[in-house]
Amino acid sequence: MRVDKTIDNVKGCLCRSCPSYSSHCKLKSGEYLPFDISHLSHLEVMFCAFEKSNCIHENRGCLCGKCPVHKKYALNNEDYCLCTGGVL
Ligand code: SF4
Ligand code: SF4
Repeated sequence: MRVDKTIDNVKGCLCRSCPSYSSHCKLKSGEYLPFDISHLSHLEVMFCAFEKSNCIHENRGCLCGKCPVHKKYALNNEDYCLCTGGVL
């Protein structure tokens, strides 16, 4: 199921707490998000709704399986930051 690009879903995303989420990525993404993210094609968070990350390159574990967005949309994959669409 396609994940809706909403701020509510971003709030549920666990990526920023994930060991794979690099400090470089934290600096690059910052805390600010526009009110409407539905038109964006890239965001450095909630990678299941967007494409893969430009600043995460190493798999140090994944929290997708514990994420409420993952459950809400009955997603099957993880590691969405490393591969667009995720991997099993
Ligand atoms: S997609 Fe998975 S591995 Fe990547 S930052 Fe998010 S929780 Fe971590
Ligand atoms: S399933 Fe993974 S990428 Fe998607 S919102 Fe949850 S933690 Fe973020």
